[in-house]
Amino acid sequence: MADKKMVEAITSMEEDFAQWYTDVVKKAELTDYTSVKGCMVIRPAGYAIWERLRNELDKRFKETGVQNVYLPMFIPESLLQKEKDHVEGFAPEVAWVTEGGQQPLTDRLCVRPTSETLFCDYYKNTVHSYRDLPQVCNQWCSVVRWEKETRPFLRSREFLWQEGHTAHATAEEAEARTVQMLNVYADFLEEFCAIPVIKGKKTEKEKFAGAEATYTVEALMHDGKALQSGTSHNFGDGFAKAFGIQFTDQNNTLQYVHQTSWGVTTRLIGAIIMVHGDNSGLVLPPLVAPTQIMIIPIQQKKDGVLAKAAELKDMLSDFRVKLDDTDKTPGWKFSEQEMRGIPLRIEVGPKDIEAGKCVVVRRDNGEKTDVPFAELKEKVGEILAQMQKDMLERARQRRDSQTYTAKNYEEFKQIFAEKTGFVKAMWCGDRECEDKIKEDLAVTSRCMPNDQEKISDVCVCCGKPATKMVYWGKAY
Ligand SMILES: [Zn+2]
Repeated sequence: MADKKMVEAITSMEEDFAQWYTDVVKKAELTDYTSVKGCMVIRPAGYAIWERLRNELDKRFKETGVQNVYLPMFIPESLLQKEKDHVEGFAPEVAWVTEGGQQPLTDRLCVRPTSETLFCDYYKNTVHSYRDLPQVCNQWCSVVRWEKETRPFLRSREFLWQEGHTAHATAEEAEARTVQMLNVYADFLEEFCAIPVIKGKKTEKEKFAGAEATYTVEALMHDGKALQSGTSHNFGDGFAKAFGIQFTDQNNTLQYVHQTSWGVTTRLIGAIIMVHGDNSGLVLPPLVAPTQIMIIPIQQKKDGVLAKAAELKDMLSDFRVKLDDTDKTPGWKFSEQEMRGIPLRIEVGPKDIEAGKCVVVRRDNGEKTDVPFAELKEKVGEILAQMQKDMLERARQRRDSQTYTAKNYEEFKQIFAEKTGFVKAMWCGDRECEDKIKEDLAVTSRCMPNDQEKISDVCVCCGKPATKMVYWGKAY
């Protein structure tokens, strides 16, 4: 009985997906509660996942010429006020510092909800000539948004993220960078996190406060809800005009810069949990997993078992491998390894040793393979690579099976009444229809995908000529 305890304690996802998520986060020891309301403690197992994601993204950013910087965590109110749409967009969720060292502040400071204004302030001082461009900077930091309802990784008052901010000489260059970073996110999500995404553009209603255009990558979770997984914004020269960021071009004429920003957050961990997890807990893609292989000895007190297990660990040192030689029972160790989403388990006991092999078990599909010791290293590499591929493919198939099309409003309403998922439908481009859809069905436009399809000629809502195909859905 004791062996099963860890697993028994989680709610099944079919019964209550939200509770399942909370259970996995807690049982896999990813986060913990804290006395700081609305915030989370990211525990070692959770932070190790973040480090894997961060390191891979950082590498991919740098391959495109990005440099890391660090800016203050405070923004003076006077600075925040400079771009009107931006301040209006963030005002409801800003936290303020009004006192410092027991003295009231004359210009109160907000704790950064995002750092566009600070980067503008910085670029205003550093960009003078066309020779100073482009500026391609990124910051890894935390930001604060005073959310009312919070959930680990998905919504919390303080969260970790990266925010890239760039300044360019031309509008074309800024647009190219915006799209380039969206592609970096999409490739990273698919290749590294095994999460298939829809790439597209946000509608005017859903775009970032102060942006000219917002691009997004949208993923579908196990329960059919969408998760915006990364965004890339083209600011045009709006911020540059508000902040006076100018440079002299080759003709000695004064010009405004064109800017972009782009970011992903610890929400990515939530996406990995909700795309890949199952009723035994977390399932981590091999590339993401901080520990890829757990070696679990069977009858470890018998002569030679622990020594063999340690030998296998050395043999697999090219991978992220651990040996569980604690005095817990093997059954307990299995359920812990499953709960934590470790991709492979290697079982080795006296009978295996006699036969010159061990048993390799895949976390994602439970498949067991007997592998001779001599072939272990090669075979493990193959199985991990196959598992990474299969996880992406499985997630893609599930997403596609939860993606529907609607030609008219009746169909549209019918689908959302019965199902949760993406619905592809045509739209006229009017804000009124978008508002009505949100009010009637509590769904939002997720994006206007790059890969447009023509489902019909008319808007699903008003019947006027359609301009775009849009993905609609319920979102986290
Ligand atoms: Zn319409």
